[in-house]
Amino acid sequence: MSKEAVVRLVNEQENNLKSIGEKIVDNKRITDEEGLLLFEKGSLPYLGTLANYVRENLHGQKTFFNRNFHIEPTNVCVFSCHFCSYSRLYAKRHEGWELGIDQMLDIVKKYDNKPETEVHIVGGVHPKMNLPYFAELLRKIKAHRPDLHIKGFTAVELDYMFRKAKLSIEEGLKFLQEAGLDSIPGGGAEIFAPEIREKISADKVDAVGWLAIHEAAHKMGMHSNATMLYGHIEKYEHRIDHMRQLREITRSYRRL
Ligand code: SF4
Repeated sequence: MSKEAVVRLVNEQENNLKSIGEKIVDNKRITDEEGLLLFEKGSLPYLGTLANYVRENLHGQKTFFNRNFHIEPTNVCVFSCHFCSYSRLYAKRHEGWELGIDQMLDIVKKYDNKPETEVHIVGGVHPKMNLPYFAELLRKIKAHRPDLHIKGFTAVELDYMFRKAKLSIEEGLKFLQEAGLDSIPGGGAEIFAPEIREKISADKVDAVGWLAIHEAAHKMGMHSNATMLYGHIEKYEHRIDHMRQLREITRSYRRL
């Protein structure tokens, strides 16, 4: 949509929504309160138009995607997030699955000579699948197919592995990066606000720890993304807080 068309739509809005639109067209940041107002009062087409305006300013008409496949090493997990129907506690691991390194390599081999360029490795937090175990997996994947991009392990998995190995975030990431890890996925972010996180997933890494791992990964040249688990007990203000915290740590890496 042209800038003129966006400006026309902005001018049709009532006062507060109009001033927010004007800031976005002027490439200015909006505040938490303005974000909340957009959630509460902005129509979906208006929000979509403003979001697309920002997107096109950053990336033009380009859309990016990749072809990937997943490996889920296990659904056995030491944590007990209330929303999770995927995991099984270690005591009930007979109800779940635990893949060995050869089984995971067999999955990789199924994609030999296929157009997939990335493997996404993510699963439960298994108490016995530790840092050396996953480093061996990474090394074997890279030995088999060096060009395959490996995106692996949420900050929740990484935090557990690093603490168990008694390594700092930087030391743990370096160990995995040297074994072949290229980037990290965005799972486990859920909702950062402690009053919500403590109710839905109290026993895993908190927002400070999650963000610290992603920040460290970026400083080491890895890319990452972030999820937001919404539509449960959180309110709009918690979603805004979540996005603001992400915006703050991405500020030094991207032109947002
Ligand atoms: S950490 Fe992940 S796999 Fe484990 S219980 Fe929570 S959501 Fe489920």
